[in-house]
Order: sequence, then structure tokens, then C-alpha cells
Amino acid sequence: MTEALQDEEYDRPRLAASGPVRVRVPAKINLYLGVGPLRPDGYHELQTVYHAISLYDELTARRGDTLTLTMEGEGAGVLALDETNLVIRAARALAEHANVPAHARLHLRKQIPVAGGLAGGSADAAAALVACDALWGTGLSRDELAGLAATLGSDVPFLIHGGTALGTGHGETVSPVLARGNAWHWVVGIADGELSTPHVYREIDRLRASAAAPPRLTSAEPLLAALRQRDPAVLAAALGNDLQAAAISLRPTLSVTLRAGRDAGALAGMVSGSGPTCVFLAADGEHAVQLAATLEEYGVCRSVRVAHGPVPGARVI
Ligand code: ATP
Repeated sequence: MTEALQDEEYDRPRLAASGPVRVRVPAKINLYLGVGPLRPDGYHELQTVYHAISLYDELTARRGDTLTLTMEGEGAGVLALDETNLVIRAARALAEHANVPAHARLHLRKQIPVAGGLAGGSADAAAALVACDALWGTGLSRDELAGLAATLGSDVPFLIHGGTALGTGHGETVSPVLARGNAWHWVVGIADGELSTPHVYREIDRLRASAAAPPRLTSAEPLLAALRQRDPAVLAAALGNDLQAAAISLRPTLSVTLRAGRDAGALAGMVSGSGPTCVFLAADGEHAVQLAATLEEYGVCRSVRVAHGPVPGARVI
């Protein structure tokens, strides 16, 4: 089925589901993350190129008399399952928007690390919107869901759409980048522990105010041009992340991980978003598997995963 056909079907109003609804949602990486000045509203002006990769969380929604959340996997036993969880916040936002009771039993199977720079929480919010929309038969279009998503977090609209997309504003304004036919192969180096995104933004502000300010990225154009070619070496040269210096400043061992990736033969390596996950570009699928095995041997990451992108955003499976 073509992507266009899938979109048409998705946008059609549907009946409420009687059985469980299962939604798969990818992690995101930023191929380019240019951080502009701090705005009066507390956000930084961003220019970013989002890319959805095949590392997934899965959310199952069943009928229920109240709204409940259970979970397994990354973050289980640590992540609060109450009203602060982005899954619950997203379900409540949809129920309020569509004027339906927020009744569902939700179960999250989490592979995306918490506060890892892969937007796992935002992914779960996107999954909850798509799952509850199908469970309750509220029939919102993908654009309507993305509008609601923007009220939950800057990365949530992208995770409704997936693929590769340019993000502007504070990341919530998303337009697709045509990269049809190209598949890129990645190795994801998951680090121990977390890095708080607001903390990393404060660190970039601090570094920029100091004498040793790291150079800023100026334009996503070279990256967008590289995406139109099929050569991973060209893409490798165009990747960039303004938050990398701040993440390394807070977690100096990340430079050891990045060096290990280069030594293992990655075409490029960078901190993903606000970190501490690092992503490495491979030449092809086979190279990614070799690279992952070598990185695993080096023992610089908690776990190492192979992934490809772009993949679609939150979808019923
Ligand atoms: P980003 O790349 O968007 O900055 P991140 O990957 O660094 O995000 P997330 O995993 O999205 O970080 O989580 C950020 C914070 O959101 C966590 O510290 C956590 O307390 C909170 N949170 C709320 N709900 C969830 C959820 N379902 N999964 C993960 N984190 C959640």
C-alpha cells in the first residue's frame, strides 16, 4: 500500500474499536539541530531535521471504566504512571477535545530509553493520541492529531507523522522532507542514566555566554541537500547538533563513546538530541550490524541497537 493511501484511510472517520488497539511508535533522532536564541517565552528558536528510526515503543488500548496505565520495559518501576505521564496527559487531552469520557486501559511496552534524547515520552504521547482516537472512534485527521500533539510537547507532532521532517518554531511546526526511497542505517548507543533536556539547554546558554562558546550551526540546507543524494558519506559530513557540546560538557564520557564509534568505523557519530544516547551512521545494513558488534565489544554503552530510518510515525498495527 502506498503512503498516500494509508493517509487517506487514516483520515476517514471510524467507529469505536471493540477489541484492543495496538499502536507502534518510533524513536526520533535529529539529523540536524540548530539552536537559536532563547525567546522571551522561554523556548529556544530551533531549526531541526527530525528522522524517525526503527526503535519502537508499543501502546495497547483496551476499553475500561476509568483511565489506567501499566507498563513494562525501559523505565518500568521508575516512571510515574499517574497524571504526569505523557500517555495519560495525551489521552485526557484527546478526550477533552473530542468531548468523550477518558475511559481506557492502556499498557505501554517501552524500548526507547527515558530521557535519552530519543523523544521517548513524546513518542508515547503520540501513540496515546492515535490509540485512543481509534479506541473511542473520535476520527481525528492526522493533522488534527498533530495540532493536539503540539499542546503536549515540541516533538509530539513529528511523532504523529514520522519519516524525515523539518521542524521550526520550537520544533512543533513540522513539514515533511522528501527523502523517498532512501534508507539510512544507524547504530544507536544507549547510555546509562539520563540527561534532562531543560538542563542541557541551560548548559548551551551558559557555554554561549562564556569565552569558549562552541561554534553554532547556521543552516540546515547542506543536510537537506545531502538527504536528496543516496550517499551515506555525504550525509555523514552534513550531520550536526548544537546541543552536543552542552551534552558533552555535562557528561564528558560521551566524547569517549563518540571516539569509540569512529574507531569502530562509523561514517559519523553524534549525540542524539539532548543526549545521552549517541547515534552512528553506517554505510549499509550489514555495516551497521558489524559496527554494533564492535561497539558492544568496546563496552562504552549500556546497550547497542541497530535501526534504520525513515519509518512512519505512530500507527495502529
Ligand atoms: P527529548 O529528546 O524530546 O528531549 P528525551 O528522550 O530526552 O526527550 P523523554 O524520554 O521524552 O526524554 O522524557 C523526558 C521526561 O518526560 C522524563 O524525564 C519523564 O519524567 C517524563 N515523562 C513523562 N511521561 C513519559 C513517558 N511515557 N516516557 C518517558 N518519559 C516520560
